[in-house]
Amino acid sequence: MASTTESSPRPGSAVPLPVRRNLAVAAAVRAGLVGADQPVAALLDLRTIRETATALHTAFAEVAAPGQQVLHTFAVKAGALVPVLRQFDGLGIGSEVASPGELALARAAGVDPARIVLDSPAKTVGELTEALELGIALNVDNPQELERLDALVGTGGPGGPGRAGARVGMRVNPQLGAGSIGAMSTATATSKFGVALRDPGARAWVLRAFAERPWLSRLHCHVGSQGMPLEQMAAGVRVTYELAEEINAAALAAGRPAQVDTLDIGGGLPVNFGSDETRPGYHYYARLLRSEVPALFDGRYRLVTEFGRSLLAKAGMILARVEYTKDAGGRRIAVTHAGAQVATRTVFAPDAWPLRVAAYDARGQLRTGGELRQDVAGPCCFAGDLVARDRAMPELRPGDLAALLDTGAYYASTPFGYNSLARPGVYGFTVDADGTADFSTVRRPQTLAELVAESGG
Ligand SMILES: *Cc1c(COP(=O)(O)O)cnc(C)c1O
Repeated sequence: MASTTESSPRPGSAVPLPVRRNLAVAAAVRAGLVGADQPVAALLDLRTIRETATALHTAFAEVAAPGQQVLHTFAVKAGALVPVLRQFDGLGIGSEVASPGELALARAAGVDPARIVLDSPAKTVGELTEALELGIALNVDNPQELERLDALVGTGGPGGPGRAGARVGMRVNPQLGAGSIGAMSTATATSKFGVALRDPGARAWVLRAFAERPWLSRLHCHVGSQGMPLEQMAAGVRVTYELAEEINAAALAAGRPAQVDTLDIGGGLPVNFGSDETRPGYHYYARLLRSEVPALFDGRYRLVTEFGRSLLAKAGMILARVEYTKDAGGRRIAVTHAGAQVATRTVFAPDAWPLRVAAYDARGQLRTGGELRQDVAGPCCFAGDLVARDRAMPELRPGDLAALLDTGAYYASTPFGYNSLARPGVYGFTVDADGTADFSTVRRPQTLAELVAESGG
């Protein structure tokens, strides 16, 4: 990896992400965002967020029919931070929410209810009522939820008599099987999400449910997240599209207008955690969808997407101070301040969620060479609290910073309260080629007083 001085490009030219990252780490140290008193902090590269949002828009604009409406939403669970939601909203990306808390965050960010989609599998009557009152699109998960909705909307449907304003869909599970990470595979035969379309009688039930409720106007699928082959995601979209066609054909045959007008194709684009390359990228996926489900882009359907991880992962890193280094049983261990509390999945499922770890010295200069196999441990009091095991990387020393890369999504934004470790600060940054960085506070570090208060003190 290039050091900051070697590859600082001419002022005015685009600074590549790895260089921006190095400049930002040094600037974060100078600004005191991370150090002895604040031993862990998360940084978000605002430029990467903008570029990723642009890539999403252009990828779908390239394959969509002229004038076809595509609403992109950001899955709030991937980055549950109000300024992040506001930033995405400003970039034309609304919010996909799955709990009252996520909805409150999206509302606090000023996201227009018309650009919010509610998808939780456990919506209470209160949540359903609120969504209907606000005019938020929602996707029904199961027959019992549909019965609840029947009682709430009455015979006229959510938009009053007729279909005006109705933005209610149904989530279906195409039951295509698992990807490489079981916990992330939402389209297995027994997944808890959506109506299991291949179960006996299920498809007929869906057709009947739509025929009896002209206000149902959408279908939703989200076939999986990290670890799901793209072909399988596209196959899930195809199954959903074909069901929409069947519902619409039945409506037309009964003398009614086409009923399903919107297909919500979910999120789930996997992220490459192995290098700085953005792979597979939205363009690849959009083109794959066009080749697998060409009619998706013929303009008859409005589209909704719900990407989370792929919109934010590459923009973020967690910086953790190395407090001590030690040797045990022939192994070198760097004890840092980032473990299960900010890298929960990596610690508990290390094979599914490996992370790159970069080494910086105490001034925030990238360390290169001098590689040593070492464990990078967190501060939590259990033995498995490791973010990297037996990893060959430049030798970490006390006072250094270990940087967990590609952690913009699902890491520091959703901390785990183990050992009463305070939530770290999250800072957005922009950086110039000369190393001048601007930081904005996305979330302040939690104070001990706040931690005590939230723990019943
Ligand atoms: C989590 C989730 C997403 C986003 O998934 P990513 O893998 O982060 O892109 C989208 N839709 C639904 C319904 C989800 O649960």
